[in-house]
Amino acid sequence: MCRRSQCANCSGVTWFGRCGLHIAQVLDPVPKEEWCTCPKPEGSSYPPIGPPPETLAMPAPTASS
Ligand SMILES: [Zn+2]
Ligand SMILES: [Zn+2]
Repeated sequence: MCRRSQCANCSGVTWFGRCGLHIAQVLDPVPKEEWCTCPKPEGSSYPPIGPPPETLAMPAPTASS
């Protein structure tokens, strides 16, 4: 299952996943003006794959008191 991600280059919304089969499910609900604006891969109408979502919005490491 592919998930929403954020492009490291343009900060637009893109996707991440191993299979690439759920790109439409991830991006279709997102307004196109919010999509990643990087060049689309050949033959695709969706932006290129983004970084793993785990690397995004990582909570700041809580300093151990
Ligand atoms: Zn998938
Ligand atoms: Zn981009």
